[in-house]
Amino acid sequence: MMKEWLIGIGLAVVIFAGLFLNVNVLPILFLAGLAFVAWFMMERRTAVAGAGRETPVKHQVSFDQIGGQENAKRELREALDFLKYRERIKTLGIRPLKGILLTGPPGTGKTLMAKAAATYTDSVFLAASGSEFVEMYVGVGAQRIRELFRKARQLAKKENKDSAIIFIDEIDVVGGRRGQHSHQEYDQTLNQLLTEMDGMSTTQSPLVLVIAATNRVDILDPALLRPGRFDRQIKVDLPDKEGRLHILQILTAGKPLSENLNLEHIARETFGFSGAQLESLVNEAAIAALRAGSNQITQEMFRDSVDKVLMGERTGRRPTDDELQRVAVHELGHAIVSELMRPGTVSHITIAPRGNALGFVRQIPEADRYLYTLEQLQEQINVALGGCLAEEHHYGNRSTGAQNDFVQASSLARTIVTCGLSRIGIVDEEHLPENVLDTEVRHILAEQERITREILRPYREDIAQFAFDIVREESVDGSVFRDWLSSIQDKKEQGEMKSSEAHRTPETVLLA
Ligand code: ADP
Ligand code: MG
Ligand code: ZN
Repeated sequence: MMKEWLIGIGLAVVIFAGLFLNVNVLPILFLAGLAFVAWFMMERRTAVAGAGRETPVKHQVSFDQIGGQENAKRELREALDFLKYRERIKTLGIRPLKGILLTGPPGTGKTLMAKAAATYTDSVFLAASGSEFVEMYVGVGAQRIRELFRKARQLAKKENKDSAIIFIDEIDVVGGRRGQHSHQEYDQTLNQLLTEMDGMSTTQSPLVLVIAATNRVDILDPALLRPGRFDRQIKVDLPDKEGRLHILQILTAGKPLSENLNLEHIARETFGFSGAQLESLVNEAAIAALRAGSNQITQEMFRDSVDKVLMGERTGRRPTDDELQRVAVHELGHAIVSELMRPGTVSHITIAPRGNALGFVRQIPEADRYLYTLEQLQEQINVALGGCLAEEHHYGNRSTGAQNDFVQASSLARTIVTCGLSRIGIVDEEHLPENVLDTEVRHILAEQERITREILRPYREDIAQFAFDIVREESVDGSVFRDWLSSIQDKKEQGEMKSSEAHRTPETVLLA
């Protein structure tokens, strides 16, 4: 605070002098600039000295607080037994474990795992992130690594513990293949890390274990993965439905949930969510309860919060009535195709602008899915194209609102080709000429566009009325939408019956 005041007053004096006293202020400004640069460098140096600041683990994390990840937890615990039962390891002459690499997407609980590992083995815990080692000045990164290991030993001694766990997040930032950077800073940092790890021995006390996390094992320098370094690789993947349920149970424990809240349903609706996203979901739902002045968190609050976590915060954008109507028609197109392809999949249709989208249809995944057949991929393309084709049927033209849908549809089409499911058969993705891929993707999209147009054709006259309802309600539940859809289908069937009865022979009526 003081500093800002002084700078402010100083500036005022300089400006005053320059304007009113006719003093040449340029040299003063130059000196001030120099002083600032010097101060800035000082700050950086201090930051260097403070690298690897021990993050005091306030509340200890235990493995029980990590949901899902049963395999990863078991593997990690097994590996940690090397630390726990050190005497036995020593008598058997087993090489100690020095490094464990946790791999997987962000927010899946890697940091939590490392903290739980420290609790489990009663070790001190130090955390750093790969990006902290990247500096403008060569050698600073290496110095920080050295410092980190020294701090770990020091802290363990101070706290009377005989082991320390160093957690390095985003190891790929420093652990990328050496010689690939134009910057030798990275290489020096990585070399220093390897040196430190090679220098660790079983007889040493305290024993140091390095746990690193990354989402990019593929770019790591092979030297890191050699025996005696990061020997163990443990995959920490996105949780499956059971895992999500478990995480939700942990995160909502002790929170006032409404009685009929169905966590299992939420777990089903959150396919692809990481633990961190689930955490944010639970938090958003609680905030919604606070806003509503309710002392219970309800299913609807969770439902809306899923939208928020997926699509981002509601934006202040206010589309015109015409635009809203068009968005509703568009979303209805997605919803109809989705429901016809896989009944019961529409969770709700919303036209509240969120993030980059003006509206959206949320689908309920039937089950977590990792494999797709050609038909399933084509269906997804149909759903993606349903939006713009509904616009086309209703307005006779399209809008820019389908850009993302096209990106999605193209990517699905590309999957069809590269997985060998297209009419050109098995291909080698690496050697597939770009223009062949292009032609095939275009062919698939044109074909599916035609099919989707036909799927929607019978509904073209009825879309407008329901779109109007969506605009009025802003959000329509899947069950309401399904009722509407089946009422239209009934109407159409009756109509067909009537028109065909006229020229049907009695036998066919009986058969029908
Ligand atoms: P990562 O290190 O893999 O990016 P974190 O461990 O930092 O993920 O997770 C961030 C937050 O997300 C945690 O603090 C926790 O609230 C929540 N979280 C993530 N994964 C889990 C999990 N498996 N169980 C419970 N909470 C989780
Ligand atoms: Mg993390
Ligand atoms: Zn769309």
